[in-house]
Amino acid sequence: MFGFGKNGKTENNNEETVPGLGKIKNIIAVASGKGGVGKSTVATNLAVALCQQGLKIGLLDADLYGPSQPRMMGGREAPKAKNGHIIPNEKFGVRFISMGLIQPDQAVIVRAPIAIKAISQFLSQVLWGELDYLLIDLPPGTGDIQLSLAQQARLSGAIIVTTPQKMAVEIAIKGAQMFEVVNVPILGIVENMSGLVCSHCQQTTEVFKGGGGVELAKKLEVPFLGAIPLDPEIMMSGDDGVPILEKSKTSHAAKAYLDLAKNLLENLQKVQVQSFEIGPGNIKLHEKDGSLEIEWKDGSLSSFDAYSLRVKCPCATCVDENSGKRILNPASVSLNIQIKEVKMVGRYGLSLQFSDGHGTGIYKFKNLKEENREVPSMSV
Ligand code: ADP
Repeated sequence: MFGFGKNGKTENNNEETVPGLGKIKNIIAVASGKGGVGKSTVATNLAVALCQQGLKIGLLDADLYGPSQPRMMGGREAPKAKNGHIIPNEKFGVRFISMGLIQPDQAVIVRAPIAIKAISQFLSQVLWGELDYLLIDLPPGTGDIQLSLAQQARLSGAIIVTTPQKMAVEIAIKGAQMFEVVNVPILGIVENMSGLVCSHCQQTTEVFKGGGGVELAKKLEVPFLGAIPLDPEIMMSGDDGVPILEKSKTSHAAKAYLDLAKNLLENLQKVQVQSFEIGPGNIKLHEKDGSLEIEWKDGSLSSFDAYSLRVKCPCATCVDENSGKRILNPASVSLNIQIKEVKMVGRYGLSLQFSDGHGTGIYKFKNLKEENREVPSMSV
């Protein structure tokens, strides 16, 4: 499917020999509910910031409809091919690949199946080699391409970029829900274009009032990873192809990206430790009374009856996603309701199928563990 420029050059002298994702320790999606919020700019600068911490970083521009990484990374050379595989370009220490490098003059791909096929090729055919982190700059929105990518790429987590306006939050929530569906933990929220810092007095002016990033993080119960200022220098450095972290290392904006990278790493580590520590060692569904018993990895024990879990279902049909208010009337649930099936959702929760046919809620281990009393013995 891909055509390589015959004279394509790359600055990557370190030709790795392992195609696909096999030697990548963590894959993180950078997503947004809508376009233009600065997702690609965050992905680029975050990649460079992580690289400046001495980590091996890759950046996959999966925004096939509007690939902007070649411009932002300042490297438009067609990548080389080796035995039918693609060698990623390398700039500022970051290995990167983009449809914009491979078919720069091609008309925009319109149909999702073709886009999905192209992304599959990116995932399986690029010689990424060993990486600590691969960041995937997702196309905006929550369509088939995003879903397919989230499923294929064994993501460690996703970060969601939003702008401060309240309106943007509602759209970003939809993006977050998509990751819930495919069991990918949200590592946190980044608020971009968050206040204009005066280059003379360093005072911040809130151009778009709203605090949307913090609000979104609260709603989703995920960490707020940081705020990136609205700074013309960020835009200009993107256009010039020299990320601000390279151009102006001591600037307020560069510091914001470095803080973001630090927070992301800390939080990813927490999620991974938590999912190991919090996770259940053993889950038992008691057929007799339909109750659920979880023995946690730390040895503690929790017990739940089906009715309590059903009325606390966190899905969008049972809880209003904007106000957080419960829509489900507990009186409408039969006291004899049972849990029919229990499935693990990634490493962070359970999906329960109830006897009333309902099964869309994801019960996070964190919440289950916090909420439930511990029972003294195995008997329920
Ligand atoms: P997206 O990937 O969400 O569509 P981009 O990263 O392409 O958005 O950014 C859209 C435009 O906004 C670009 O011109 C970019 O340079 C500019 N931009 C992004 N973030 C900032 C910022 N923090 N300050 C100033 N301009 C920004």
